Amino acid sequence: MSVKIEIISGLGEKAPAAIMVHVNGKRLLLDAGGPMQPDETCDWYLDLAADAILISHDHVDHIGSVRWLPENIPLYCSELVARNLPTGRQWQALPTRGQIEIEGVRITCGQAGHSLGGVWLHLDIAGGIFYSGDFSRESLLYPFDLPPPAEVALLDASYGVYDTNQSLCREALLERLTQATLLPVPPSGRALELAIWCQANQLEWTLDPLCQGFMAQLMQLPADLLMPGVQQQLRELTPRTWTTDDHEVDGLVRIAGNANGVGGETGRLISDPEYTGQVIYTGYTPAKARADISAGRAEWLRWNVHPRLSDLQALTRHLGARSVTPLFCSMQQAHLWQQALGSGFNQHPIIDI
Ligand SMILES: [Zn+2]
Repeated sequence: MSVKIEIISGLGEKAPAAIMVHVNGKRLLLDAGGPMQPDETCDWYLDLAADAILISHDHVDHIGSVRWLPENIPLYCSELVARNLPTGRQWQALPTRGQIEIEGVRITCGQAGHSLGGVWLHLDIAGGIFYSGDFSRESLLYPFDLPPPAEVALLDASYGVYDTNQSLCREALLERLTQATLLPVPPSGRALELAIWCQANQLEWTLDPLCQGFMAQLMQLPADLLMPGVQQQLRELTPRTWTTDDHEVDGLVRIAGNANGVGGETGRLISDPEYTGQVIYTGYTPAKARADISAGRAEWLRWNVHPRLSDLQALTRHLGARSVTPLFCSMQQAHLWQQALGSGFNQHPIIDI
């Protein structure tokens, strides 16, 4: 069997995800990421040929280029992820947990702990190839399933060699929430994690209508796609009513989209001169957020949604991987990766097996 992995995009920087696995003359494309910023160059898909496309989850840097790929390439994703495909795009279901055969390759999927309906992919060829998509071991909402053994691991390393526990991140954020605060978030995922956490910490908090809609969606899901007890926790949440004119409520924590500080209630509040609360970004900071931060109009405190270095090391051991490629991060610290991952550390875009 001849197997070659080609990391087309996503190696050496936080860039759109696109990995081609060539196996016995067939080409499986793992993820089809698009630009995270409107002005970001993204041309990896030009003249691309593939026999199947597999999408790990519905974040733009993993799904955003589907619209530019030929419609006739069969596309596989979970049912929840399919809701975010371009209108009319045909698709076939990946299991949220379980196996499927695609182009003669047995694929196992499991929950990746990072987003709604998001999965990791394990290809049962060449001793096992594991692609994590984006993953987290610390989510309050989404479970992470342990994958089968794999000789080759392609792992989300969006945070580089960062290794701070989420419990410390939460403590740091809690210390700052003594005054009215706006937390810009993506409605899927972190919004509801923050809501559960605010409630547990007895804060005064509220959720914008977009995030409330997402909460209703989560409560309809099969319970095993969420951490045990989450649906009960969601039912017991008691947010204050979201209104547009209570700028001055003391200590109110507002959880609102969009995460990038541009549209939605977040965009409205940030540009409202009457809003006097602080603004704290907790995730990826695009141009608008960075401008707010450097102008002193906002702060940034990380809320982990990607793995820490210790998660990468533990997963590598679990897999028994002999080749480990950290994705979506700079390789300027290659020597640190070498130290952390040992002789299996790979930073080359082509892996011949
Ligand atoms: Zn993601």
